[in-house]
Amino acid sequence: MVIGPGARGRAVRDIQQRLLALGYIIEEAERHDSYGPSTAEAVRAFQQQRGLIVDGIVGPYTWRELVEASWRLGDRVLYLRSPNIRGDDVRELQERLSELGFDPGRIDGIFGGQAATAVRDFQRNYGLPEDGLVAVTTLRALAGLPHLGHPSVSPVTQIRERESLRHADGMAGLRVVIDPGHGGADPGIVGPSGVRESDAMFAIARELEAALGAGGAAVYMTRDADASPSDRERAALANDVGADIVIALHAASHGDAGAAGAATYYYGNERFASERGARLADLVQAAVSELGLTNGRTHAKTWPLLRETRMPAVQLEPCYLTNPEEERRLADPGFHRRLAAAVSSAVRTFASSPVLA
Ligand SMILES: [Zn+2]
Repeated sequence: MVIGPGARGRAVRDIQQRLLALGYIIEEAERHDSYGPSTAEAVRAFQQQRGLIVDGIVGPYTWRELVEASWRLGDRVLYLRSPNIRGDDVRELQERLSELGFDPGRIDGIFGGQAATAVRDFQRNYGLPEDGLVAVTTLRALAGLPHLGHPSVSPVTQIRERESLRHADGMAGLRVVIDPGHGGADPGIVGPSGVRESDAMFAIARELEAALGAGGAAVYMTRDADASPSDRERAALANDVGADIVIALHAASHGDAGAAGAATYYYGNERFASERGARLADLVQAAVSELGLTNGRTHAKTWPLLRETRMPAVQLEPCYLTNPEEERRLADPGFHRRLAAAVSSAVRTFASSPVLA
């Protein structure tokens, strides 16, 4: 589903109703079923706030995020099931449990095993039936307790996140998943002289695999040269192999051919950021900036791969493939090696000091 400016009909009305309920402004004349400028502006504001790609168009990710954003704690019963229940009600629950000193894992709006364990811990501590169900009784207990402190900080979660790092002694045995973007029938961005993002990222990934492997890391790739798994499949692979970190590789693009530089992304929403993801992103960004690339800094995003992975994950976008000069770089094996060496040195630093003292 892709719905954008000029669209009409029931789907547009549904999008507008959700945006209005979330407090966004849509002009009266557009309401009911016309995707006009104020609807596009509201979609852009929503995308900006939720860390999505900001294009004013409702594609599958934005639609899923709109649906998730519409849930409030108490709207439905929450429990552990497969696939996991997702939504802002889960995020509220995770924040509440974290404030109360229980450990729900990351505040990511996904009701997974750790959230379920935290719910049972809460129920046991407060003398409730220990069924792992967030229904009337548990909701009442959660609501009746005083709020502690500021919800934007989650001390328990961050402490557990530190404790859960298994390798704090260098790169030997570190499990690294490398995720070269796109592949197979999906070339990703194609540069002005035909360089494909999928090929360039795969070549960089192979160099990175060699550099990390030489340092003693156990490296897994999410795809072969000719395959294109979904982001969820890539995240599932990282979770299944028990990766310590994930490094995804993509190129950036821009309508302006002059846009240039490297940026690194990690998991975060407006209330929570992965502390170790941010640390890894800072190290990677600092290392690649030393190659003479314009420093586009690090940013928190909720992209599926960053969100669905249970360990520090970063997405490095070293260059703009839409820039002819940077396209040449992305086709240069020497640059691939230098970039891989820089990222590998960042991983080495991270493995020995995953948090700032
Ligand atoms: Zn890409």
